Amino acid sequence: MGNRSVLISGAGIAGPALAFWLRRHGFDPVVVERAPRFRDGGHSIDLRGVAREVVERMGLMADVRRAAIGTRGMSFVDDAGRRKASMPAELFGGEGPVAEIEILRGDLARVLYDATRADAEYVFGDSIATLADDGDGVRVTFESGARRRFDLVVGADGVHSTVRALAFGEESRFSHHLGSYTSYFTIPFPVRHELWDRYHTPLGGRVVAIRPTAREQEAKALFGFTSPPLPYDRQDMDGQKRLLAERFAGVGWEVPRLLAAMWDAPDFYFDVVAQIRMERWSNGRAVLLGDAAYCPSLMTGLGTSLALVGAYVLAGELAAAGGDHRAGFAGYEREMREYVRLAQARAEGGESGFLFPKSNAHIWLRNTMIRTVPYMPWKGLIAKKLRQADAITLKDYLGATAPAAR
Ligand SMILES: Cc1cc2nc3c(=O)[nH]c(=O)nc-3n(C[C@H](O)[C@H](O)[C@H](O)COP(=O)(O)OP(=O)(O)OC[C@H]3O[C@@H](n4cnc5c(N)ncnc54)[C@H](O)[C@@H]3O)c2cc1C
Repeated sequence: MGNRSVLISGAGIAGPALAFWLRRHGFDPVVVERAPRFRDGGHSIDLRGVAREVVERMGLMADVRRAAIGTRGMSFVDDAGRRKASMPAELFGGEGPVAEIEILRGDLARVLYDATRADAEYVFGDSIATLADDGDGVRVTFESGARRRFDLVVGADGVHSTVRALAFGEESRFSHHLGSYTSYFTIPFPVRHELWDRYHTPLGGRVVAIRPTAREQEAKALFGFTSPPLPYDRQDMDGQKRLLAERFAGVGWEVPRLLAAMWDAPDFYFDVVAQIRMERWSNGRAVLLGDAAYCPSLMTGLGTSLALVGAYVLAGELAAAGGDHRAGFAGYEREMREYVRLAQARAEGGESGFLFPKSNAHIWLRNTMIRTVPYMPWKGLIAKKLRQADAITLKDYLGATAPAAR
């Protein structure tokens, strides 16, 4: 096997998943993460379609199910908190807006990290500063001043990827604003959860939700609002909080309580809703994975699936090519392109009208549709369309379908 030493930037979902599969194929991955320690946080994410199969093949499904939330469905509530329409998780065979397996992003990342930390090197609190591909390998300098040499470098460092900026060019060339911003954070939640996600859609292009977690006494708040690109400072968290407080001033339901809790939230997160679209995901010895390469946006509910499947395919194609990066990266692009295209196309579907209705008549129409959908003969067609998440057949790169040993 050639090109054994692989530097992975980012210990989110894609990075640890890739480290897992590279180790299984005999590579030596090193993961560098900018955060000073393992980074928890995030809302519930959906584990659906073929990504579930990847987790099965990792032998980690039992761990994932143990950490799963058990969300029963989503409801829309009015400003007095009355339920107006509800969709149980099983409505579209577990492939609808609430997936059969909902798990906190941080809990899934933890399962992946725990499964790899013993036999992959992790470096926290550092970031790649420069990359120099000299044809035989990549000389890397880190912000800490450290210098190391690797055969290959993988950018699994999310939507604002540093590897992408260094090896492909600035973010604005690849990032497509989808017209909204989102924020999530943890709030104290002293009453017992009913395990339903509750969404409220005041008008004015705004949505707010309270979603349960697998832990007592806490919940996750989600805010979203439509807006053209905003000039805000990504490092200035207080400025982002002020922005959110202004946008949601005067909104009823639980919003005043959520905004009050926001100031003390341990994990406030605010970002643009964007897609990353690129014609190529590799350049020389550098390659991108997960959100860094093809973020589909949270409007699709497929970001984590793409990251998990992408990690499986990238490691598998590299191994199948005996470590030859040209052949391995070409195989990765070939296998993943259509899957990514279909996933990204899902952001053009009806979700934004669903979450950002323009008038009370729209709200009424949406709620009526939700209430009647279980009785509609075309329910099956919707489920089928949603199952497009499965639009890739996983090869068996290890030559055996038995789950990987831990
Ligand atoms: C804190 C957080 C919360 C999130 N919450 C949600 C959510 O609630 N719902 C949802 O659908 N999606 C959420 N996402 C995005 C979601 O995790 C991804 O869409 C998806 O899982 C793809 O994963 P990824 O590994 O490609 O990217 P990410 O999960 O974004 O991971 C990227 C990792 O790279 C690290 N990183 C960034 N820059 C550098 C650098 N220069 N050097 C080293 N490391 C770097 C980041 O700290 C992060 O750990 C969240 C991401 C983060 C980081």
